Formats: sequence, structure tokens, C-alpha cells
Amino acid sequence: MIPVGFDYARPDSLDAAVALLAERGDEATIMAGGHSLLPVMKLRLAAPELIVDIGRLRELNYVKVDGDEVAIGAGTRHHDLEVSDVLAAEVPLLPAVARTVGDPQVRHRGTIGGSLAHGDPASDLPAAVLALDGTIVLRSPRGQRSVPATEFWTGVFTTAKEPDELIVEIRVPRTGSAGWAYEKFTRRANDWAIVAVAVVDGRVGLVNMGSTPLRASATEAALAEGKSIAEAAALAAEGTEPPTDTAGTPEYRKNLARVLTRRALETAAGR
Ligand SMILES: Cc1cc2nc3c(=O)[nH]c(=O)nc-3n(C[C@H](O)[C@H](O)[C@H](O)COP(=O)(O)OP(=O)(O)OC[C@H]3O[C@@H](n4cnc5c(N)ncnc54)[C@H](O)[C@@H]3O)c2cc1C
Repeated sequence: MIPVGFDYARPDSLDAAVALLAERGDEATIMAGGHSLLPVMKLRLAAPELIVDIGRLRELNYVKVDGDEVAIGAGTRHHDLEVSDVLAAEVPLLPAVARTVGDPQVRHRGTIGGSLAHGDPASDLPAAVLALDGTIVLRSPRGQRSVPATEFWTGVFTTAKEPDELIVEIRVPRTGSAGWAYEKFTRRANDWAIVAVAVVDGRVGLVNMGSTPLRASATEAALAEGKSIAEAAALAAEGTEPPTDTAGTPEYRKNLARVLTRRALETAAGR
């Protein structure tokens, strides 16, 4: 389908983008890679009057060490995460997760900020940032604030971000040699996850097991108490409400979550 008509602006700086968003309020929508926004507009589930294109703002595309954390610009594309030497050394989970997102075309356009802002519980990177205990940095004319990933997603496609706020940065701890793994279950290569599990440093993030990315809290608690991987993984679906669709029932997804969590924990323990 063809989207409803819209105006288009491509500000040449982050400051100009923030100002434009503030000026046009609810009428305006940010576009980064456009790989989630445009499909939604084509389905006419969104009809912004103005698109503010930040996709070419180089100041939002970086990965750098900053103290105990790695700072990632919101406009960093999935492919740039995949090939980042900084991430390979400091947060190896992220390149491994980025490598599983869609196909090369999607990974060369889509951005980490767009993926987190879109708030699709079936997306890969949000659960990874959640498992990493990351932070999302937002900017508006009122200034800058940081929201922990544990508080960022509030429902399907909804987040704690205000309409006039831009995600400018994602911050994650340097995990270095801590064990990690990503297990993504799909029917075909390049598909969205039916269920996926991110493990890092004893924390577990779940993809597509509820209305937001989730932490497998019961599994994490069992691990902290010294329970075995098998015992902890058996609790991975506790408190989840996975969706029903053509790919599977909630019971099927709960079983997948347990199996994938066990595999991911075993892999992480061996790294
Ligand atoms: C064929 C296909 C397959 C895909 N497969 C997968 C997959 O397997 N796994 C997966 O996780 N994803 C998948 N995706 C989604 C892809 O990763 C998207 O690129 C990503 O979810 C959105 O990033 P974007 O930069 O394209 O955002 P956009 O589409 O530009 O924006 C998405 C939303 O985020 C908002 N937004 C964007 N950037 C910011 C910002 N900096 N601050 C505030 N709001 C912002 C926009 O206003 C919009 O509401 C797929 C997409 C396609 C088209």
C-alpha cells in the first residue's frame, strides 16, 4: 500500500532535529533507517504529517569506550555493530545479536536507536540491551535524561520516550570476558525470532515472550542461588505471556524459552 502524504525534513544537526521535533510536536515522527517506520506507514497504521530524517546524521553513528561502559550512538546501524572492533572486545554479545537481524539490506539500513524506539517485543537488540542492563539516553529541548532498559519498554510498540524526545545514545557495561550467548529460533534464515534468548554475565533476556522484551528473573535468581543450569533454565518461562500466531502457541514458545535458555547458559558457561 502507499502511505498517506507527508512532509519531509532532513536537518543537518542533532540540535536542529531536536528543535524541529519540539516545534511540530505530535505531527512529527523521527525516521532513522526507515525499516520499521515505512512498513507501518504503508499499512497506514501511522500517518505522520512530517518525517524528520536523522538517518544521515554522522554525529549519531559511533561506538566508543567511556569509562566502565561502551557508548553507542543511536544512529549506529546493525552492520556497524556487527563489525565493531570495540564491541568485539568489550561487549561481544551485541555484534553476535546484530548479525542475526534480518538480512544484509536490513542490517545496512536499520539502526539500534530505531530498533529500541520501535518497541517490537520480537526484535533482537532490545532484549540484548535489557540483558546487558543497558541505559537509553534521551534528548529533548528540556535537556537530557537516562532511562534504564528495565524501565524503557512499557507495552507492545510503546516506550517511556516522550513524543519530543530523541534517543541519542545507548550505554552498556563493558562485559569483557564474562560468558555470553544468543540463541535465536526461526523457521527460516533471516526471519524474525519465534523466541530468542540473550545471556550475559548470568542475566537472561527473552525475545517474543510477552508484550515487551523480558528478563527471565526466576532463572537469574536460581543461578544466583547456585542452582544448576538445567534447574535454572526450567524456570525461564515463569511470569511470561507469549503471543499466539502462525509460528506457535504460548505453550510452544514457553517450551522454546526453556530449551533455548539452557543452550544459551551452557554456551555462556563454556566461553
Ligand atoms: C524485512 C525486514 C526484516 C527484519 N528483521 C528483523 C529481525 O530479524 N530482527 C529485528 O530485531 N528487527 C528486524 N527488522 C527491523 C529492523 O531491525 C529495523 O531496522 C529496526 O527495528 C528499526 O530501525 P530503523 O532505524 O529502521 O528505525 P525506523 O524505521 O526509522 O524507526 C522506527 C521507529 O523508531 C523511531 N525512531 C527511530 N530512531 C529514533 C531515535 N533515534 N529516537 C527516537 N525515535 C526513533 C521512529 O520514529 C519509528 O517510530 C526487520 C525489518 C525488515 C524490513
